[in-house]
Amino acid sequence: MSNALWVERNAAAVANTYGRYPIALVRGEGCRVWDADGKEYLDLVAGIAVNNLGHCHPKVVAALRAQAGELIHCSNLYHIPQQIELAEWLCGHCFADRAFFCNSGAEANEAAIKLARKASRERHGEGRGEIVTALMSFHGRTLGTIAATGQEKVRAGFDPLMPGFRYVPFGDLTALEAAITPATCAVMLEPVQAEGGIIVPPAGYLQAVRELCDRRGLLLIFDEVQTGIGRTGTLFAHEQEGVTPDIMSLAKGLAGGPPIGCMLATAEVMQHFQPGSHASTFGGNPLLAATALAALKTLTEDGILEHGRAMGAYFRAQLEELAASVPGVLGVRGRGLLLGLELASEGAGIVQQAMARGLLINCTVGTVLRFVPPLVISREEIDRAVALLRELLTAAGGH
Ligand code: PLP
Repeated sequence: MSNALWVERNAAAVANTYGRYPIALVRGEGCRVWDADGKEYLDLVAGIAVNNLGHCHPKVVAALRAQAGELIHCSNLYHIPQQIELAEWLCGHCFADRAFFCNSGAEANEAAIKLARKASRERHGEGRGEIVTALMSFHGRTLGTIAATGQEKVRAGFDPLMPGFRYVPFGDLTALEAAITPATCAVMLEPVQAEGGIIVPPAGYLQAVRELCDRRGLLLIFDEVQTGIGRTGTLFAHEQEGVTPDIMSLAKGLAGGPPIGCMLATAEVMQHFQPGSHASTFGGNPLLAATALAALKTLTEDGILEHGRAMGAYFRAQLEELAASVPGVLGVRGRGLLLGLELASEGAGIVQQAMARGLLINCTVGTVLRFVPPLVISREEIDRAVALLRELLTAAGGH
């Protein structure tokens, strides 16, 4: 089967919800993937910040295989040792005391929204269900999370929307303070806005938000679906800000590829979830929990987290040099291996040309090339990617 045939069959059978490139990926190893025609690519998309350990990391594959032969799924009606171990590991590595497992980032955020509302009601009485989020945020595609997302384009056409969200410019503390009303129960933010164009907030902003939440009796939710699991150079991005949330959502890189989501909270907050409050059939099942635990241990015990941090600094330095010398490249932003290159014009053409030359990159908000490679990427691979980008962007001549 060729790329062309898969493209044809896709159009006839799969919902047209994605603007897909005309290749079908069939195999991956480390930072490389191959398409159905046998062409090799250096993958700086990594499933959009999912394949943090590289494609088919042997320890992820081994954990999946081993657990698949023992017990793939059982209901959350029973205790699940792998889920318990994963929860213990996660709570041992962050502010949280309790974990709820689900299957995606949007679901983790749904759980966070439900918990914030319920906890606030039970603590402060009725009338506190509003959540303030940021403009240009992205929290998912379910009905609750599109309402939470501060981008009109993801909400258009799906009204009536779930009420109870207010949006403020990211990084603007005064606007946030002004948006808080007696009905507000929480503030929900990405520590670095990813889909919104790789926006790092001003220094001290998240700390000030934490103080504001404490002062006004609000819960602070960090959506670390994209920034978590080593993506920004530390296990969680908020570690670099000297601030902890009350609730955090995770997904994407949590199991090194396979789908799992998680909502973490302090014991004080999570006590407001009781049997019947929330549930997920597949959430934290033995297969995914065992794989996530193996992926997290691999990330932290095999030096991959530190390697990713070092490669983030190296990649950034190379991109800064490129930005300084190529017309039409306005700047570099991001943290760790969540990097964006801002262009003066649309980036879609560069993405296409890079793909034709064997490099997979992505573009967000039209003009920002996004790089979220596996954390195992090498200097040589970064050099190769930057050399090609330099060539393509120079040829584009700043247009
Ligand atoms: N939150 C953030 C910050 C994300 O970047 C994403 C996906 O890109 C989501 C939530 C939604 O995650 P999922 O697609 O797994 O539902």
